[in-house]
Amino acid sequence: MTQSTTQGRAVAPIPYGRQSISEQDVSAVCSVLLSDFLTQGPKVPAFEQIVAEYCGARHAVAVNSATSALHIACLALGLGPGETLWTSPTTFVASANCALYCGASVDFVDIDPRTYNMSVNALEAKLVQARQSGCLPKVVVPVHLCGQPCEMQAIHTLSREYGFRIIEDASHAIGAKYQGEPLGNCRYSDITVFSFHPVKIITTGEGGMALTNDPELARLMECFRTHGITGNKAEMQPRPADEIWNYQQIRLGCNYRMTDIQAALGLSQMTRLDEFIEKRRQIAARYDTAFADLPVTTPWQHPDTCSSYHLYPIRIRQGDSPKSQRQVYDAFHSAEVNVNLHYIPVYRQPYYEAMGFAAGYCPEAEQYHKETISLPMYPSLSIEQQNSIIQTVMESIIP
Ligand SMILES: *Cc1c(COP(=O)(O)O)cnc(C)c1O
Repeated sequence: MTQSTTQGRAVAPIPYGRQSISEQDVSAVCSVLLSDFLTQGPKVPAFEQIVAEYCGARHAVAVNSATSALHIACLALGLGPGETLWTSPTTFVASANCALYCGASVDFVDIDPRTYNMSVNALEAKLVQARQSGCLPKVVVPVHLCGQPCEMQAIHTLSREYGFRIIEDASHAIGAKYQGEPLGNCRYSDITVFSFHPVKIITTGEGGMALTNDPELARLMECFRTHGITGNKAEMQPRPADEIWNYQQIRLGCNYRMTDIQAALGLSQMTRLDEFIEKRRQIAARYDTAFADLPVTTPWQHPDTCSSYHLYPIRIRQGDSPKSQRQVYDAFHSAEVNVNLHYIPVYRQPYYEAMGFAAGYCPEAEQYHKETISLPMYPSLSIEQQNSIIQTVMESIIP
């Protein structure tokens, strides 16, 4: 099934992101519907294996969302009350909420004004302070914003010195590369998490996955994904021989399982992952060229990285541009283009402000939020649509 591409505008506004669904995806899902297993069948392990192989990780645990994957990742690392998780303020709330689910607290490390990812310098400075006050984090969650990998090697070096664990939030970034290798290989982290929400790089409707090279973390995450239940005799407590125990609940987990219907869609989408990334890179290159002479900042790429281009934010710097973010944003909405903001700093959310965070806490993240707009970016965006988006940017910025 091909999507409407050129006529989309008259019918519905251009979204900032959307899925690409093929005939092959549809038949993959339909064949599961007619099979013996809608869930807990063969498709979930097959999907896990394909993603693990693609990324070069030893283990993969598929779940019903990246939010769930972040939660079981924190549980597997033993995060709990009295402990802290640090992440970037410029992310979706799920990167921080996972700590609160575990009864731990959250803190934020400001972003790098060039990559918009967690700043390694800010991280190091905060670690130095935290060591002095005896409140080092147990877990740090770098977020590969827009699909551009964070400086993982440097963060990993700090983890050795300061003794924290690392969960990469790669919700935007399946298919991206760091130092020439696929993200998700966990070379510099304990666990990497992907999202398969429809706006992300590949989709399963809702869905996520946690990858690791550590067999113990994989076993724990599998157990937390399904109520904390195990059917593995070696993990079960001994019981009288005349009682039948085919499974035991040995810890408190959740029902975070992915269905076979979702996994079949994911397997089918994986066959086009490289094609999706290529298309996104072409769209980014066209935007880069079109905006080269405008007073806007296009996404800077760190030389060690190869982005999956989940998002394409343009930055309308106060002082450089004759127009404000608000004026450009409004111009898009009148042109029926649903540009978006990624992201409001997490700690500015009312729920977080109620915990004591206040405006001004991470100045770079706040400035980024005030100046940035995410343009539409998805594989089926047509040249005509992209041209009209580029024209809207030009007309709204050049006085
Ligand atoms: C989308 C997203 C999530 C959550 O993903 P779900 O699969 O929707 O739970 C987490 N972190 C980031 C950075 C995201 O963009």
